[in-house]
Amino acid sequence: MKLQINQSKVLKEIPRESMPDFGSEFSDHMFNMDYNTINGWYNPRIEPYQPLSLDPSTIVLHFGQSIFEGLKAYKTNAGKINLFRPIDNLRRFNRSARAMCIPEFDEKFVFSALKQLLLLDKAWIPNVSGASLYIRPTIIAMDKHVGLRVSETYRFFIILSPVGSYYSEGFSPIKVRVETKHVRAVRGGIGDVKTAGNYAASLYASQEAKKEGCQQVLWLDALELKYIEEAGAMNVFFVINGELITPKLSGSILPGVTRDTIISLAKTFEMKVYEKKISVDELFEAHSSGMLTEAFGCSTAMVISPIGSINFKDETITISENMVGPITRKFYKSITDIQYGRVTTHENWIQLVE
Ligand SMILES: *Cc1c(COP(=O)(O)O)cnc(C)c1O
Repeated sequence: MKLQINQSKVLKEIPRESMPDFGSEFSDHMFNMDYNTINGWYNPRIEPYQPLSLDPSTIVLHFGQSIFEGLKAYKTNAGKINLFRPIDNLRRFNRSARAMCIPEFDEKFVFSALKQLLLLDKAWIPNVSGASLYIRPTIIAMDKHVGLRVSETYRFFIILSPVGSYYSEGFSPIKVRVETKHVRAVRGGIGDVKTAGNYAASLYASQEAKKEGCQQVLWLDALELKYIEEAGAMNVFFVINGELITPKLSGSILPGVTRDTIISLAKTFEMKVYEKKISVDELFEAHSSGMLTEAFGCSTAMVISPIGSINFKDETITISENMVGPITRKFYKSITDIQYGRVTTHENWIQLVE
């Protein structure tokens, strides 16, 4: 397959001074590729960023047969472009494809196309520390058909969006609300897949949490409504008695790259890390005995999001009001130091775009 490149004749103005809101501005170009049963994946091309034209009956609009990924490109002080564990994202993308009956793609080919796209739009990668270029690969079902079935045609696209640091106003802890009625995902379902339906299913409870002044939902398992799974669209970690605990991947938890990174780093810090079931009751007990000292969510988009308080039914526990704990800080610093090339440890996680 040969990648066609059709450069844009008019270039947009790149936001420089103040960073746009997350995911609201996009670069000059996008990657596109199509699928049908005769050609397989075909016609890969980089072309000007542009709207899609969809027939109103297009399957994805009705039944959500779609998958996405999220990763970032970082500019280093030396002016290099770093990708952090991109192969893990592409592998997970193909895993999501299998789960949603979407045909798999050639990871090597897409990786090289992504690098070409980034080189073409490299001026869009912010120079500011903490800022980056968010990369959103997506595949959608394209058959024109309002009956439920697996599509036979697809569109694969990648778009790029400059994002500022979430922490421009400081690294302040968020409030989370344990959701005791609605569930995000059930074991045996698609909670461990980055597919549209999971995020649609999370909206109602997110609004409820916001009404109570909380920024994120702390999701419980769908079967017993007892065990903690995720914080919004982030994986979650707790520091209890100086040890790190994160919910064990259960099938309804998204296997985050950041989660996996933290588990690896903890081992290099010689810190004990456990992947296990943890109930809200255990968490509240750990808090009342003074053992719960830190909690944080993690994802590519947020890196690390310190959790200040947890609301459960009529009770609220405060872990830290304004302070961010030393372990949370340590992970934030280690991860961003690697991503921005400020340290050369874990170079196997970095892929240069050149
Ligand atoms: C993407 C995502 C995460 C975080 O995954 P990363 O690979 O670390 O970005 C966690 N939970 C959900 C539900 C997600 O969609």
